[in-house]
Amino acid sequence: MSKVKDNPGWNFDNSYANLPEKFFSRQKPEPVPSPRLVVLNESLAKELGLKPKVLRGSEGVAVFAGNKLPPGALPLAQAYAGHQFGHFTMLGDGRAVLLGEQITPPGERFDIQLKGSGKTLYSRGGDGRAALGPMLREYIISEAMYALGIPTTRSLAVVATGEEVYRESVLPGAILTRVAASHIRVGTFEYASQWGSEDDLRALAEYTIERHFPHIGREDRYLKLLLEVAKRQAALIASWQLVGFIHGVMNTDNLALSGETIDYGPCAFMNAYDPETVFSSIDRHGRYAYGNQPQIGAWNLARFAETLLPLLADEQDRAIKLAEDAIADYNALFDYNWLQGMRAKLGLFNEEAEDEALVDELLKLMQQQAADFTNTFRALTIEELEGPFFASEEFSQWHEKWQARLGRQQESRSLSLDLMRNTNPAVIPRNHRVEEALAAAVDDGDLEVMERVLLVLSDPFAHSPEQVAFTEPPPPSAEPYQTFCGT
Ligand code: AMP
Ligand code: MG
Repeated sequence: MSKVKDNPGWNFDNSYANLPEKFFSRQKPEPVPSPRLVVLNESLAKELGLKPKVLRGSEGVAVFAGNKLPPGALPLAQAYAGHQFGHFTMLGDGRAVLLGEQITPPGERFDIQLKGSGKTLYSRGGDGRAALGPMLREYIISEAMYALGIPTTRSLAVVATGEEVYRESVLPGAILTRVAASHIRVGTFEYASQWGSEDDLRALAEYTIERHFPHIGREDRYLKLLLEVAKRQAALIASWQLVGFIHGVMNTDNLALSGETIDYGPCAFMNAYDPETVFSSIDRHGRYAYGNQPQIGAWNLARFAETLLPLLADEQDRAIKLAEDAIADYNALFDYNWLQGMRAKLGLFNEEAEDEALVDELLKLMQQQAADFTNTFRALTIEELEGPFFASEEFSQWHEKWQARLGRQQESRSLSLDLMRNTNPAVIPRNHRVEEALAAAVDDGDLEVMERVLLVLSDPFAHSPEQVAFTEPPPPSAEPYQTFCGT
């Protein structure tokens, strides 16, 4: 494997490789026969200090394909464990390789990871590869999340590899270049706790603090780490609930300590409001249903807290008490973030004790009438209350209460509407629209549909006329929609 000649701006550091060796294995990507760039995220490339034109050249594409290493890269696969649907397992990057950490012109640090880059020490019988459809799906949805203002890993590029991958059918292979604040997961700590020494665990905790929470001082350092992670998860999961995002596989290996959304396998957005909504084909008992996400967040955080117990206090009882208090903090913070977010969705600036009841009443009506989550809030935002849901007597009664509540704050009606427009997206990645784009790209090699979808999703709060066509919920024939893991 040779190095690229024309550097588009790669500027790597490899701090993860300074962790104790059991945290990773050195692993080069496996070359592929005939790489072809399918999509490049030019604005993200620029933010990273990379020149899109050079990235599009054959040397640039060879990097995204894993056929050439960029200068300064020290590729490795990360070791981690995780609770999958409640069961503890050894995992690790089974089909991904971390090239290194790109240091951007302003000095930020981002992991650059190839996903689908071949087998590693942790592949466990998998082929180490990925298919084009699911990688484009991750690209579309992660970028949509970014535009919605939700912390997320991002997607820099997708290349088709020219290889076939064998799933239920034969599919074109692809590699996604994923950009993340880091890939440290709850599962990384579970791995350290299960198979490492206390020194290994401490080294990982120190590394995580330095990388994500450098302001944490010496005192109660590991407790503060736990509290910071709890805070970010409370904010993240509240932001999911507020747009109807269902992650679908909230295993502890898919919970990034940075607070970014990670792993876009079986995720999807809810249409009709129903807390029991599940899209993932393997989530048969609804463990990761929309309405369960907040409490699963607490469960996952408890697994994280358990790994930290030896570092929290000398006496175990005291450590357990501290951990329990941190989970309670998470619950309170989630509730607070969620209610604040809901207030904003209803144009409310101040707080009243009955606000939660007002929100609950609206959600209950939406559930009873299977009203579309996004479009109901969108309609309130643009004051276009047409359709059977808004015609009902129950809704009129609720509407009256809401109007009275709006009248009890100082801010003008127009400020309220601005707040609502900036909080209630006009468009989300509707499952049927995403599928349409993927079918055109994968089956017909037509990328235009996807480009249009990406453009519409890049400004979800525009409420522009062009977006109207993308606000339609799926036709009845497109339901029930199913998503798949590890594809
Ligand atoms: P996920 O469901 O994507 O979170 O993946 C769970 C685990 O399976 C991770 O350790 C992945 O690296 C691994 N994995 C998923 N797909 C493959 C594959 N095709 N080959 C090898 N490992 C895989
Ligand atoms: Mg994963």
